[in-house]
Amino acid sequence: MIIRKSPAEIEKMAAAGVVHTKAMKLAESKIREGVTTLEIDQAVEKLIRSHGGEPSFKGYHGFTGSICASPNSMVVHGIPGPYRLERGDILSVDIGVTLDGWVADGAVTFPVGPITPIARKLLEVTRQALFDAAEQCRPGNRLGDVSHAVQACVEASGMSVVRSLVGHGIGRDMHEAPQIPNYGQPGRGPKLEPGMVLAVEPMVNAGGHQVRLASDEWSIFSKDGSLAAHFEFTIAVTADGPRILTPWHEVIDAGAAPVPVS
Ligand code: MG
Repeated sequence: MIIRKSPAEIEKMAAAGVVHTKAMKLAESKIREGVTTLEIDQAVEKLIRSHGGEPSFKGYHGFTGSICASPNSMVVHGIPGPYRLERGDILSVDIGVTLDGWVADGAVTFPVGPITPIARKLLEVTRQALFDAAEQCRPGNRLGDVSHAVQACVEASGMSVVRSLVGHGIGRDMHEAPQIPNYGQPGRGPKLEPGMVLAVEPMVNAGGHQVRLASDEWSIFSKDGSLAAHFEFTIAVTADGPRILTPWHEVIDAGAAPVPVS
């Protein structure tokens, strides 16, 4: 069953989202050559707690980090640790914030200094796929419209959506129904209704769609070693259309296409 939230509950999730955006902006400010992913994790945790929140991921099924930090060919679920960022890396930062019992979840893949053209394209495509999917999160549409929007954007670019990992409903729990695949048929699946809140999260490999689980039992890599990116919003379906509750895009331009010079 998909739990629908009242307008007052959506405001509480938006409040968690405000802290989430601050946390993501802080993560961006820390990202540079030589910094460890644990240092970013610790700074983010401190910020979340200073706002009265809790990092949702910490302790989740024994996860030790406050963020997931996934560089290069790692798709998601990287454990923060001693890895030092290198110039030319890309780094997915996924943050969950629990505030007053409600969860906000979102991710951004950042460049570390100048990156290759293929990496830049991967970030742009994955971010655009998220925006295309967000646009579909409105009453009367079906979940398949959201999934299909991701797939269409990604496959038009010749890249691959990861099929074995999905987005999810979100609310008091980080993971609620429904599962939200990043591929699917338009017009299929549950009808979207006001009050549903969805964590939509395209996960994209520059190469093939297959992934592998690392020996730490958390980190997931592209199977072929190709670069991978991940962007995520928590989105409320409202009568007025999609409302992004983790609006990091208002302050972060990682993955945004450069404005053409005329
Ligand atoms: Mg998520």
